[in-house]
Amino acid sequence: MKFKPWQLILLAMLLALVVGGIVNARMVNDAGEMSALGNRLVSIFDYVGNIFMSLLKMVIVPLVLSSVVVGIARLGNTRGFARMGGKTLCYYMLTSLFAILIGLTMVNFFKPGLKDGQPNEAIKAQIEANAEEYTGKVAAKVGSEGADMTAVSEIFLRMIPQNIFEALSDNGKMLSLIFVSLLTGIGLIFISEPSRKSLLGFFEGLNELSLLVTNWVMLLAPIGVFALVAETVAQAGIPIVLILSKYFLVVAGALLIHLLVVMPLILAFLGKVNPLRQFYAMRNALLTAFSTSSSSATLPVTMRAVQENAGVSNRVSSFVLPLGATVNMDGTALYECIAVIFIAQVVGWDLSIAQQISVVVLALLTSIGVAGVPSASLVAIVIIVYNLKIPNAEAVIGLLLAVDRPLDMLRTAVNVFSDSCGAVVIAKSEGEQVLEEVPA
Ligand code: ASP
Repeated sequence: MKFKPWQLILLAMLLALVVGGIVNARMVNDAGEMSALGNRLVSIFDYVGNIFMSLLKMVIVPLVLSSVVVGIARLGNTRGFARMGGKTLCYYMLTSLFAILIGLTMVNFFKPGLKDGQPNEAIKAQIEANAEEYTGKVAAKVGSEGADMTAVSEIFLRMIPQNIFEALSDNGKMLSLIFVSLLTGIGLIFISEPSRKSLLGFFEGLNELSLLVTNWVMLLAPIGVFALVAETVAQAGIPIVLILSKYFLVVAGALLIHLLVVMPLILAFLGKVNPLRQFYAMRNALLTAFSTSSSSATLPVTMRAVQENAGVSNRVSSFVLPLGATVNMDGTALYECIAVIFIAQVVGWDLSIAQQISVVVLALLTSIGVAGVPSASLVAIVIIVYNLKIPNAEAVIGLLLAVDRPLDMLRTAVNVFSDSCGAVVIAKSEGEQVLEEVPA
């Protein structure tokens, strides 16, 4: 029997759940410490997972640069660019707003931070006992990701690089990279024909090459996915997960409603396409997003799936997807909203209606600036609680880190799926035939 690539990835994921589960059950003692053999296995998983992630990340800069430049230059005029840009931004805003509103409703309805109307004592006790450790963890994470921004306006300032090679040399500067690529693409429309032809030829070649390398990297996906998922499962801290189980279920439930109800409705009504076909077309990208927790690392796979399986033109996907991978993060926006309100509930800080509206607006804005890397939401959550002046929030954020990874896997899959649906809906609106037939 011959397995298809996506079936192999799925099998690898299931195997990883079993192997990671065994490591977790057998090699972690009651105090939560892992045995030497367990640690050794985790570091092997980590090593192999990192190789896979690095191979994917390696393709990001050339792929984004070349596809955005080619995509815009092919639009041929700035009017085409403005029309598609307008539609794309409307789609991004609309879907992110839907996502945030689902989160807002769920967190206010289920109140995961309260018990009998009061801040949950078990959660508070856990935080008080470990406040220093949790605060330190947050500071380390936020610092290590270069998040020196405390104001939302910083996000937009950082978009303009002072040197274009800065934008081309740092995967964390996706917005700068897009800014440079947009400018280059628009510039290409206006320069003289001979220069345009040679430069465009270069970028087209680079684009083809980047997609080819992605195909090669994906041959390793089953091994990479196995390592990433096994590492996560092996390290899961069960006792803390239990304290946070209500929070976990509210976030997961809200994400699933967005993924399985809202997005299919958008596909059916706005795009007039069969949502099931879109899920099938995106199978590899969804599995990769889920196991890497990084929309940026998944971008090469998303691009390939949208073009080859969903049949979206290079012209539309090259524009909508790279931009979407960092700007359009429905899952992240939804998560930020739930996390911030949960934190307020736990510390007993009443948020007025006006403040809840601020949470919605800030979640929308910060989700635009968040990088598509694991745990990136954390930075945005810090920014929002800082803006709302919620006291003692850092320690609660530190506690949330304990369940961040599985929720990150899910929200990244939601982020990637929403980008791909954007490409399909916009391609349809541009008169393209999409999702007619999805290759097996
Ligand atoms: N990991 C997410 C992504 O890459 C971002 C986040 O919500 O942390 O899309």
